[in-house]
Amino acid sequence: MSVSVLMYHQIGKFSPMKSHRSTYCHVKRFNVQMWYLNFFKYKIIKLDDVVEYLKKDKPLPKRAVVLTFDDGYKNFLEYAYPILKKYNFHAIVYLLSNLIGNKAIWFKKDNRDTPPLLSFDEVCFLKKQGIDFGSHGRNHRKLAEIPLSLAKEEIELSKKELEELFGFEFKHFCYPYGSLNKKVKTLVKNAGYVSGVSCFRGAVYRGCDLYEIPRKAISYGDNIVGFFWKLEVKNRLKRQ
Ligand SMILES: [Zn+2]
Repeated sequence: MSVSVLMYHQIGKFSPMKSHRSTYCHVKRFNVQMWYLNFFKYKIIKLDDVVEYLKKDKPLPKRAVVLTFDDGYKNFLEYAYPILKKYNFHAIVYLLSNLIGNKAIWFKKDNRDTPPLLSFDEVCFLKKQGIDFGSHGRNHRKLAEIPLSLAKEEIELSKKELEELFGFEFKHFCYPYGSLNKKVKTLVKNAGYVSGVSCFRGAVYRGCDLYEIPRKAISYGDNIVGFFWKLEVKNRLKRQ
């Protein structure tokens, strides 16, 4: 029994780009991908179900898929959400507590435009519609490469800030850039999160570390064949 946790970042109308392709998905392709999951009767489950499976061996449905969206871009509301709603699909979006209603300012170092992030009201609206939210830290830092005290702040304080701001629990964590090590994982666990999703690739199988959940990045270049390939074939764990 396995589950594919798909990783998306921005959904929208983008002209072909040369770099960071794995963080963009054209809305036309996203629409076809969601149609595909629905047509072939994949079961879109919650990350909570994966946690129950890994912790308590609670069975998963066949063809289980989790949809994750990193960074909390405003284009999630504009482009991804209407399509998810059409199929009644679950999704989890990872937010940065210090950048709610702000922009993806960490893009500046690559000289990229800084797309807007979801506002407080937009997150509240989406939560009411059944979208789940997790923490992605405070400022999008590489947690394994900064002082541990700062990593602790990113992990613990983001949970506190998000919960105080929105008034609901943030149980799941997502490591920015997939940057993690043993100490960072322990901080995430001790902060009270029940899971940590990484950028390691592959499917989730029994025995998988709850704080090192692998995902499958759906890239700008993935047509429907590529999507099928990632979904059904690329299951072996790759840490690089
Ligand atoms: Zn991110």
